[in-house]
Amino acid sequence: MPESADEVYARVLAAAADGRLPVPAMSSWDIYPWESVCGAVVPKQLRAPGTEQPREGEPGGKPCWACDGFSPERIVWEDEHWVLTSEPEPSGLPLVLVLWTREHYDVGDFDDEHAAELGRIANRLVRIVEAMPGIGRVHVNRWGDGSSHSHVWFFARPQGFDQIKGSYAVEWDEILPPVPQDVWRADLHTVATKLANWGGTARA
Ligand SMILES: [Zn+2]
Repeated sequence: MPESADEVYARVLAAAADGRLPVPAMSSWDIYPWESVCGAVVPKQLRAPGTEQPREGEPGGKPCWACDGFSPERIVWEDEHWVLTSEPEPSGLPLVLVLWTREHYDVGDFDDEHAAELGRIANRLVRIVEAMPGIGRVHVNRWGDGSSHSHVWFFARPQGFDQIKGSYAVEWDEILPPVPQDVWRADLHTVATKLANWGGTARA
């Protein structure tokens, strides 16, 4: 089962005794909107707009790696039309899962049957993960600015931390030290087997 809030906090203090964790790699990303100027954190200057670059899987963009198939160690659960994946290693939040279509569609291009399947699976997944102890909420996100192959993110945030909420929970996923491997793998297994109660095959 996921760590309790006290266990999460103990893990943070083990990594940083005063609770101030190292700056994550995302602070150097071009899309990161903040910078330090004369000791103050301020928004970056906004550059003038340009042409949108093609995404992975679009004409002129990089090939769609999702269409090449997912490596088995990433697959948590799958059925005929959908594949649920995780990153190969745990990150800071208790669980981060991504639901992909097996075929190359973008969100917005589904027929009604696929759209209904997405709703059913997303609803079940949120219900399963939010019922696990130590989980405060599951945030469901679709961005799609990198890959044009439809994928929806599920970020489970820990319970009890007032700062780890809303879209900022995604940033804390990069800041918090990784969840222990054994805890993370057991939780992936729980999610996979519970989701498979409605169909599909558990792989984690
Ligand atoms: Zn694709």
